[in-house]
Amino acid sequence: MKRIGVLTSGGDAPGMNAAIRAVVRTAIYHGFEVMGVERGYHGLLDNMMFPMNSRSVSEILQRGGTILKTARCEAFNSEEGIQRAVEVIKSRGIDSMVIIGGDGSFRGARDLDDAGIPTIAIPGTIDNDLGYTDLTIGFDTAITTVMESVSKLRDTSSSHERMFVVEVMGRNCGDIALFAGIISGAEEVIVPEMPFSVKEVAERVNIGVDGGKSHYIILVAEGAVDPYAFTEELEELTKINTRLAVIGHLQRGGSPTATDRLLATRMGARAVEELRIGNSGVAIGLKGNVLTTKSIDEALAVRDRLSMELYRLAEILAR
Ligand code: ADP
Repeated sequence: MKRIGVLTSGGDAPGMNAAIRAVVRTAIYHGFEVMGVERGYHGLLDNMMFPMNSRSVSEILQRGGTILKTARCEAFNSEEGIQRAVEVIKSRGIDSMVIIGGDGSFRGARDLDDAGIPTIAIPGTIDNDLGYTDLTIGFDTAITTVMESVSKLRDTSSSHERMFVVEVMGRNCGDIALFAGIISGAEEVIVPEMPFSVKEVAERVNIGVDGGKSHYIILVAEGAVDPYAFTEELEELTKINTRLAVIGHLQRGGSPTATDRLLATRMGARAVEELRIGNSGVAIGLKGNVLTTKSIDEALAVRDRLSMELYRLAEILAR
């Protein structure tokens, strides 16, 4: 009998629950047991886990967040931390692990695998900052939330002829700002990957206003610039009433979209299939509409690049 441990780690993302459900039910389908580890690597070091069955994952497909809780855990990120985790895993009769999280969590997953625990990594982060996969679980829900928020801001922006600077998440990755900017019709998208000057943004705004634009939405990725200073400078240069809206953690919550549920479900099931055929140390990804596997190290080594096609499209459509 195989016993699989599953945990969620790092920033939570909508769809993590759908992935947990798929891991648990696929494992049970194949006659394996599942242990749910609570609070990420933290719970692993503290031996916080419980056996899961099909009913443990009822009614969670549509829920945001993660029923297993998540955490950041400094103590795990050391030689002693990994050794302690391996001891706990072995003492509970677990023979393989599925880790759902972002790049930091992937490094932990790689370390566990290197330490002799067969481990599979599933990309769960709203940031979409892992270059080896087209999509990460939670990204689609996050950009949908931004899209809905921007559409509300646009109403007030047009009515008051006000400009809105909207700060979105993404850490060092501009994908949330870029994708959400395109689907929201933002006038400007500011991302960490591309240079920009407030002066030039202000010039384009002034040209737009002269050309009859009555609203302005500027999406700013959190890693690109201090949004408070940016907003102040832009108002100064354009003389247009400008407000800053920080969407913040609203982007991390909510019921996952159809895309995220499907992605998470497919990836969760695939992770168990990989363990079943004796594969380990791999990350599940999506390329086109096909699930892929790559060693976690190779997956981490792929540089995450901003799509120049989409960046150009955002520029063209904003005029
Ligand atoms: P995310 O997984 O969302 O990127 P973090 O970067 O905070 O979030 O990583 C989550 C956890 O993964 C950390 O708290 C730590 O326990 C573990 N981790 C991060 N980096 C490493 C690393 N280089 N080696 C081992 N474990 C790591």
